Amino acid sequence: MRLVSYAAAAGPRVAVVKADGSWVDLNEADASLPATMPELLALGPQGLSRAAVAGQAGRPMDRARKKLLAPVPRPEKIICIGLNYADHARETGKEPPPEPVVFNKFATAVRADGDEIVLPRLTNKVDFEAELVAVIGVGGRHIPKEAALAHVAGYTCGNDVSARDWQTQKPAGQWLLGKSFDSFAPFGPELVTADEVGNAGDLRIGLRINGQTMQDSRTSQLIFSVAELVSYISGVCTLSPGDVIFTGTPPGVGVARKPPVYLQAGDKVEVEIERIGVLRNSVVAEN
Ligand code: MN
Repeated sequence: MRLVSYAAAAGPRVAVVKADGSWVDLNEADASLPATMPELLALGPQGLSRAAVAGQAGRPMDRARKKLLAPVPRPEKIICIGLNYADHARETGKEPPPEPVVFNKFATAVRADGDEIVLPRLTNKVDFEAELVAVIGVGGRHIPKEAALAHVAGYTCGNDVSARDWQTQKPAGQWLLGKSFDSFAPFGPELVTADEVGNAGDLRIGLRINGQTMQDSRTSQLIFSVAELVSYISGVCTLSPGDVIFTGTPPGVGVARKPPVYLQAGDKVEVEIERIGVLRNSVVAEN
């Protein structure tokens, strides 16, 4: 099943995407199901099964002037993994880390498919990173690796937009700030449930700028699998429904190129992941 969040007058709502691309508002189709994505995800696989039934039976809505939001418009946690592709670690000249490198982004950085990536005034080194994003369903703490995928509701495409000068050249390396400028966490367009994705550990993942391929790899290059990441992070903090994990990026990022390539106003960026979709964002300069 494919799910989207969209903006309604009273706040975000969740819709099921039918095979023909039309949307069925979940709560209108079945008033016993919740109106928002995190509430739906909290219900676990049974809630998703009921959503699929309601989506099939429901009447498509009029999408005119409906604003698409990120699948989880305001995640409680945006957790990101650095240096998690073997081929990307080689590209940066670093040894693969013995444990996951974890950082985060502020929720104010979230944007949807179709929204703009805004180049901040405070940097001219804005880079792109195609990433598989795992979305937590049922939350938990101290989740064993063997049980971890039962806590992943689905997947979507993400772009871990990064100001490289802030990330690496500020005192102590300001990863949080360099990764958290407004608009630096676009993800979407759809949350594709885990059963529909199948094995997320072997998907083609790539990124194009203005149609030119910049990244092209497979999630089989992940050093730490989604299950390992969920288990590792849940040892530290309680994972909640709708938390998102940006799982790391393959090679080809701008900073590793000679000469480096950074995003420019007018660029059209596309992140594509097999069986999941395409995330499209255009780049504009900050006013
Ligand atoms: Mn990243």
